[in-house]
Amino acid sequence: MARRTLIAGNWKMNGSVSSLDFFDAIAPAARNSQAEILICPPSTLLYQAAQACAGSGIRVGGQDCHARQSGAHTGDISAPMLREAGASHVIVGHSERRADHGETDALVRAKSEAALEAGLVPVICVGETREEREAGRAVEVVASQLAGSLPEKSRDMPLVIAYEPVWAIGTGLTASVDDVANMHSAIRQCLPDPLTTCILYGGSVKPGNAADLLGLDDVDGALVGGASLKSIDFSAIIAAVSRKSEPLR
Ligand code: PEP
Repeated sequence: MARRTLIAGNWKMNGSVSSLDFFDAIAPAARNSQAEILICPPSTLLYQAAQACAGSGIRVGGQDCHARQSGAHTGDISAPMLREAGASHVIVGHSERRADHGETDALVRAKSEAALEAGLVPVICVGETREEREAGRAVEVVASQLAGSLPEKSRDMPLVIAYEPVWAIGTGLTASVDDVANMHSAIRQCLPDPLTTCILYGGSVKPGNAADLLGLDDVDGALVGGASLKSIDFSAIIAAVSRKSEPLR
């Protein structure tokens, strides 16, 4: 089965109601693309974002969810709540949550399972630090994160994996195409459904490097932070997908 390309934007703790015109601005690029487009705004904007992109084919997702479906967890948001607000996906285990909130692989696994139970597709983030890469441990670290973070029963489940080297997030640095190709191939070998699981690259993806990264065989799309805040840049990244699909001459 062919894997569909997914271009996902992570707005992080950015955006306001006035940002919702973003959806109209990227609609032409999304319409002309074979890729699936997903935007993960802050949860306060999720419902309005879902309304703003209704009928456009663009999807919205959460940036995190709690591992339980409901209960006494002040300030947290559950996967069913995201779903009710209009989300189709939820990012789990982003390195900023792993670092800022001490999230472990076990917690990321529990969140992934909660997402699936609520009918959401978890976008499970993994990635090594600079020190780990420099020590030659990048593949080992990512394989271990995957082993601990994937849902217990993940075969035939709609999962998305995002490989995001921590040192490339928000820094302007990107992994080389060789390093990305090697890592994505290694990740694929760790997955229960290697042929059908979508693996995204994330880490300073921008219009200038998107075509090279998306052109790699094992790269099924991108998770985009900073460049997803500007409709012009995000539209250009979406347009880079069609260059991926163009036949080689
Ligand atoms: C991210 O936060 O998932 C990300 C990839 O950020 P940026 O594109 O800004 O590096």
